[in-house]
Amino acid sequence: MKDRFERTIEYLRLSVTDLCNYRCIYCMNEDGIQKKTHSDILSIEELTEIVRAAHSLKIKKVRLTGGEPLLRRGILTLCENIKAIDPAIELSLTTNGSLLYDMAKPLKEAGVDRINLSLDTLGPNKFRKITRTGEIFDVMNGLKAAQLAGFEQIKINVVLMGGVNTDEIKDFAELTRYNDYSVRFIELMPMNVCKGWDKSRFVSNELVLSTLKDLQKIGGDGVSRLYRMNGCKGTIGLISPISQLFCYQCNRIRITADGFLKPCLHSEEEFPLRGLTGDDLTQAIKNGILAKPLKHNLDCFSTQTPRDMNRIGG
Ligand code: SAM
Ligand code: SF4
Repeated sequence: MKDRFERTIEYLRLSVTDLCNYRCIYCMNEDGIQKKTHSDILSIEELTEIVRAAHSLKIKKVRLTGGEPLLRRGILTLCENIKAIDPAIELSLTTNGSLLYDMAKPLKEAGVDRINLSLDTLGPNKFRKITRTGEIFDVMNGLKAAQLAGFEQIKINVVLMGGVNTDEIKDFAELTRYNDYSVRFIELMPMNVCKGWDKSRFVSNELVLSTLKDLQKIGGDGVSRLYRMNGCKGTIGLISPISQLFCYQCNRIRITADGFLKPCLHSEEEFPLRGLTGDDLTQAIKNGILAKPLKHNLDCFSTQTPRDMNRIGG
C-alpha cells in the first residue's frame, strides 16, 4: 500500500530474535543483552500471522533478521510458513554467517530466496576484534555452503569504519572478480553503542568511489547505488544512509522481535502488534505504514531510537 508520501510500501523486515552469538563492536555491548523470556518474543505463529496480514496489504518482500536469525528456534518452520502464504513472496535473510555451513541447504529447501552475509573484514585477527567472539573461517565456510546450496548473487554487507577496515576496500572489491557476489559498503550509522565514537570512524561511501577507480555505474537496487568493476562478475553496492539521504525511496517497515512495528529505523515511534489478530492486526500494520515520516533526522550525532541495531534488525 501507499504511505502518506506516495511511497509504495512493500518490504517487511522481521527481527526474529534480538540474541546474537557475536558482539560486534558497533552493534552490541561486550556482555551482550539481557536475555528475554520466551514469551517476550514473538512466537513463530505470531510472526507468521504478521506476515499474512502484511501480505494482505501488498507486502511482497520479507527479510528475516535479528540479532542472529539462525539462532532462532523454528526459523525453518517460519520460512516454510511464509512461503505457504504465497510462494511469490521474496524471502531473504541477513546473517552473520556463523551457522550457515549447516543451515544453508535447509534454508534453501525451506524457501529462502536470497542471503545477505555480514562481513566487515577479511582478516582473521581483525574479525575476532570486530565481532569479539567470531571466527572468520566459520563465515567463509558458511559462504561456500550457501553457494553450493544454490544461493546466487549473495550480498556481502561491509560496514565501513574509518581506521578499522577502510584499508580493505580494494580487497573486498576483488571478491567480485570471479564470483557473482554483490559487495555492499554500508555507512556506519550512529546508533546506541557507537553513537559516541570519534567522528573519524564515520566515513562517507565517497571513499569507496575515490578508492576504486574503474567502477561503472550500472543502476540502483532499492536503497543501494550499484556499480561493477571492469571485467568483474559481481557488483559493488553503496548504501549511504548518512551522505545520501534515501528516505524518499524508502519502501520498508520493520517489526522488532518483541512485537513492535517501527515505521522508521531512526524514529522513536513504535506500534504494538502483540495480542492483535485478524482485521485488528491488519489495521495496526496499516496505521504503522501511514505513520512513516518523510525522512529521518539522522546525522553523525543523533538517532531518535532508543534501541540498538540488534534489537531492531538493521
Ligand atoms: N546478525 C545479523 C548480521 O549481522 O547480519 C543480522 C542482524 S544485524 C543487526 C543486520 C545488519 O546491521 C548487519 O549487516 C550489521 O552490520 C548492520 N549494522 C549493525 N549496526 C549498524 C550500524 N550502527 N550502522 C550500520 N550498520 C549496522
Ligand atoms: Fe550480532 Fe549482527 Fe549485531 Fe554483529 S551486527 S552483534 S552479528 S546482530
